[in-house]
Amino acid sequence: MKIGKYSMGIGDRFEHQGEAQLKAVMKAAEKGITVVPVWNKSNREHNIVHSEPDGTRREADKAVAALQWGHQYLVDADHINLGTVERFIPVSDFFTLDVAAYINKPASDASVAAFKASCASLGGKVEIQGIPEPLTITETLLDEVAGKFLAAVEEAGKIFRHVASVKGEENFITEVSMDEVESPQTPVELFFILKMIADQKIPAQTIAPKFTGRFNKGVDYVGNVEQFAREFEQDVLVIDYAVKHFGLPENLKLSIHSGSDKFSIYPEMAAIIRKYDKGIHLKTAGTTWLEEVIGLAVAGGEALEAAKEIYSKALGRKEELCAPYADVIDIDDSLLPSAEEVLGWSSEKFANTLRHIPGHPDYNPNLRQLIHVGYKVAAEMGERYTSLLKLHKDIIGQCVEENIYDRHLKRLFNL
Ligand SMILES: [Zn+2]
Repeated sequence: MKIGKYSMGIGDRFEHQGEAQLKAVMKAAEKGITVVPVWNKSNREHNIVHSEPDGTRREADKAVAALQWGHQYLVDADHINLGTVERFIPVSDFFTLDVAAYINKPASDASVAAFKASCASLGGKVEIQGIPEPLTITETLLDEVAGKFLAAVEEAGKIFRHVASVKGEENFITEVSMDEVESPQTPVELFFILKMIADQKIPAQTIAPKFTGRFNKGVDYVGNVEQFAREFEQDVLVIDYAVKHFGLPENLKLSIHSGSDKFSIYPEMAAIIRKYDKGIHLKTAGTTWLEEVIGLAVAGGEALEAAKEIYSKALGRKEELCAPYADVIDIDDSLLPSAEEVLGWSSEKFANTLRHIPGHPDYNPNLRQLIHVGYKVAAEMGERYTSLLKLHKDIIGQCVEENIYDRHLKRLFNL
């Protein structure tokens, strides 16, 4: 199984927006850009919402059948490991092997020796087309990268072989992810990670490193855009080298776990993938859920009340809700409005504060991040929340579609 050149992770926490999401992808297809929709939902999200992976599969199949989407689509077992993958295996055809927790864990002496022996064929210097400085390979560097990443990639190998033993190697797409960590991986480190992935015989088609800068959930990129662009370009060139020399799948591409909405780096990524004619996987997740809350606010009445309640409850449980996302959010408490203040807001004020329009005077990234991690509150509202989603299906669907098409796809593919 081979993933198309362009693909986009369109997570959906409550599994009601499949059709609205697919409509956005279909709009891009009408403009000549075919993007493979990948319904991704992580183990963490399933646990918080108390849903099961087969629900994601049902949602995807239903949306595709209803809109008669004739191209590829996939269901991603997002951020799984050996302990959590089992329930995803029958229903998923994309597996994001999250081995971030194994970074900096020691590998065995025998594994380190085998890795170093396999690097001998690279010689002392590696020239990578497009990167001005050759990569100098030293004993110290090999020890360093093995110390950081070898155990993690070995773990990815274990997960891959397990899934392959149940599903058959040809029946799924493999992604290796190391993005949910504090320190970024440099292009040189990516080079060796790919070498290790090839040594483990993992046919990875997407790779998700941690890039430089902050990728906070649901808000724009925070960091040096120029440095990001330089490293992103080098990563693309390193992947190109790894495909040609390490025997990795020829369509191997970067997967950007953007936490959604990294608008300021979209044009940089777009220019680089166009320059080298490369593919990309852009994983967005929670912003569909945020569009649901925006849609409820816009709908007004009882729905607006529910949106306000989600905020006030999330505010009261901030620590608990933020804990699982500590590495990927930055909330300035002093800029969060009080629950009383929000209670007095109109539909428009609430929606404008939450909606991600950079530069809009009402937009508040602190409130947005808090609601982003506050979906547990909506999950606990149960029927009350999902029946509001059904009642205001059209307004919410429009918000979801507009978000994915206008704010993401248009920016990334110059539509
Ligand atoms: Zn991720």
